[in-house]
Amino acid sequence: MSWDFETEPEFQEKLDWVNAFVTEEIEPLDLLWPHDVYTQLDETRRKIVDPLKEEVRRRDLWATHLGPELGGQGYGQLKLALLNEILGRSMWAPIVFGCQAPDTGNAEIIAHYGTPEQKERYLRPLLDGEIFSCYSMTEPHAGADPTLFKTQAVKDGDEWVINGWKFFSSNAKTASFLIVMVVTNPDVSAYQGMSMFLVPTDTPGVNIVRNIGLYGEPLNEGSHALIHYEDVRVPEEALLGGEGQAFAIAQTRLGGGRIHHAMRTIGFAQKALDMMCERALSRETQGGLLAEKQFVQGYIADSYAQLVQFRLFVLFTAWEIDKYNDYKKVRKDIATAKVVMPTVLHDIAWRAMQVHGALGTTNEMPFFQMIHGAAVMGLADGPTEVHKVTVARQVLHDYRPSDDIWPTEWIPKKLEAARAKFADLLEHEVGNQ
Ligand SMILES: Cc1cc2nc3c(=O)[nH]c(=O)nc-3n(C[C@H](O)[C@H](O)[C@H](O)COP(=O)(O)OP(=O)(O)OC[C@H]3O[C@@H](n4cnc5c(N)ncnc54)[C@H](O)[C@@H]3O)c2cc1C
Repeated sequence: MSWDFETEPEFQEKLDWVNAFVTEEIEPLDLLWPHDVYTQLDETRRKIVDPLKEEVRRRDLWATHLGPELGGQGYGQLKLALLNEILGRSMWAPIVFGCQAPDTGNAEIIAHYGTPEQKERYLRPLLDGEIFSCYSMTEPHAGADPTLFKTQAVKDGDEWVINGWKFFSSNAKTASFLIVMVVTNPDVSAYQGMSMFLVPTDTPGVNIVRNIGLYGEPLNEGSHALIHYEDVRVPEEALLGGEGQAFAIAQTRLGGGRIHHAMRTIGFAQKALDMMCERALSRETQGGLLAEKQFVQGYIADSYAQLVQFRLFVLFTAWEIDKYNDYKKVRKDIATAKVVMPTVLHDIAWRAMQVHGALGTTNEMPFFQMIHGAAVMGLADGPTEVHKVTVARQVLHDYRPSDDIWPTEWIPKKLEAARAKFADLLEHEVGNQ
């Protein structure tokens, strides 16, 4: 019987080190350079960040999402979850540990589907933490339903020519290459007619029209690009995986990406709970600490309950991925974690903000960033509603309709069956009376 909630002592030691390292060495970077997480390191930042990355490598904690053949540690998803829940409380920490979105998912699909040349050209520098990548899938007129995408690649000799628009292509402005999902055969279903291409960002015709910012960022200085692909020519070798394989590749990418977001969200929500508890123990009103008021105790208890359920479920899902080594088999639980994640983060951050009073609503505390993060988690990698549909469909797979007009659990029918099962005994009992 192996059903264990303990972390092996050697790995726990590593986690303890990570915890202190993130607090002391990395969280200060979040304050100094909150908007430069995905930009190439300038001289000053390189002097600070490179030695931190080196220390992470020295401790065998670099790029733990990948197997050893790709420069990772082969620790698997469960250990990654335990690590990511610590890294999730800092913006810079995933960069310093070589496991930041969206590069993790992008690296994963190049590792799975890339040719040796593609791996050498794109994967190697990505894993070395020297370049950034961008996943360019959503279009301005359609996001949640990829069958509506229109951006198209047409064969011209031994080249493909890409034309169309993409929206919310995160980090395109700093990425060295884009992974673009396009229609290559409009005559078959979208599931067979779309392909992925690896496109260097400086290819002529890749026009970044706007860099859309999230709430609070200045207009047109954000990181989510509206891109016009205008007669973008790429060689045949730019195709990632086979022609028509885009949907299969997207599932590999998004499965990993979604659960990694959930792992990091645990850390972010834990940070909100920590702040709520500290404030509750520090602030007095009407003759007592906030921590003694039942409303506030309710906030703390509800938050702890939500977080602990979410955390255990994410760890369990990570364990399942390691066990089956196949995202498809764990699709229901990955989608469930994706559905639950925004609510958990939103609720805990909202209560923590409330407990901080006016201060909580200011730009001197991180609560709005967290609440905004929850809204983003309800959309990035697909909206909550669409994932609920996936969960419901997967749950329903295990059920059959009743073979009768009455439900299987209809008590009169079950009672009749129970009487029939024990008829001999019951008759005997009646006979004895
Ligand atoms: C911060 C951030 C980063 C992102 N990064 C990237 C990226 O790097 N690359 C990329 O390609 N995309 C990226 N996206 C885009 C993201 O994948 C899309 O926002 C998402 O797929 C939804 O598409 P949409 O925004 O067009 O919404 P729509 O498809 O227009 O959906 C809008 C709303 O309609 C409802 N809805 C949609 N479908 C259904 C349904 N079937 N049933 C019920 N209700 C439904 C939901 O409420 C949904 O929120 C990012 C998004 C965010 C917020």
